[in-house]
Amino acid sequence: MVPISFEFYPPKTDEQRAQLDKTAARLKAKAPEYVSVTFGAGGSTLSHTPEAVQRLHSEHGFQAAPHITCMGGSREEIRSLLKLYRALGARRLVALRGDLPSGMVKAGELRYAEELVSFIREETGEHFHIEVAAYPETHPQARDALSDLDHFVRKVRAGANGAITQYFYNADAYFRFIDDLRARGVDIPVVPGVMPIANFSQIRRFSELCGAEIPRWMAQRMQAFGDDVHSIREFAADAVAHLCRRLIEGGAPGLHFYTLNLSRPTLSVLDRLA
Ligand code: FAD
Repeated sequence: MVPISFEFYPPKTDEQRAQLDKTAARLKAKAPEYVSVTFGAGGSTLSHTPEAVQRLHSEHGFQAAPHITCMGGSREEIRSLLKLYRALGARRLVALRGDLPSGMVKAGELRYAEELVSFIREETGEHFHIEVAAYPETHPQARDALSDLDHFVRKVRAGANGAITQYFYNADAYFRFIDDLRARGVDIPVVPGVMPIANFSQIRRFSELCGAEIPRWMAQRMQAFGDDVHSIREFAADAVAHLCRRLIEGGAPGLHFYTLNLSRPTLSVLDRLA
């Protein structure tokens, strides 16, 4: 098996904290290399992300990597967050542009992840291992696929050590993306982001927003199961485990699971891979 990592979102209520604790305790048995914690758009979770990072580190013993975004943050705010993360013992960050929630207009001082990566390097040198986001199926707002690739390469040259992809269900999109990067002289590890499926309508909604394609044959199958949630989950776990096997066989350096703070969908994939 390749190294694995898990992504969580920061809880805001006691109920969500209890859910994260339960999920973290169950996933710990899979010995992840690290876990990461998302950062809400527009700074709405300014304090929730550091709190979750601390919780996952001190109560669950994980190496926890906060996500940090350009959105809604001035250079000064980002500088203080970096200080805080250093004080909490973080050695890894996921650096992103972020998205503004609809209706919000306040963007940050930094416009693109590339600028954020440069800023983090200027402020903290080599202290942090920096991951950035990659889009084998192209970022939904990109002008076109080739300019998106060029922007990705610039982001790496600004100082990223590795990348995690947006989730996808077409292994060929990932392999082609890696070939394109290698042809441009980029050789950092690019870890596939894996989205286990617990709920078909939820995944269809997410995919429309982030530009991930659900292959027609998968969508047709899940649709045909109707309200039979058990069959949808079993089918999806088989399909996602098959995708992971192909990725590993094709040389993927790791797998990063989007858990949505639930353990079961991720465990059903991992158990099939064991
Ligand atoms: P960038 O790399 O800056 O690219 C954004 C767009 O701008 C692309 O279309 C790119 O082609 C274009 N672009 C880049 N540079 C230039 C330039 N110089 N000139 C013109 N165009 C340019 N969002 C959150 O809010 N919080 C999170 O915690 C979070 N975690 C994520 C984790 C992962 C692994 C992934 C894949 C995504 C995550 N996101 C998160 C979503 C992400 O913020 C969005 O996809 C966002 O729209 C783009 O972020 P980015 O860092 O890829 O942006």
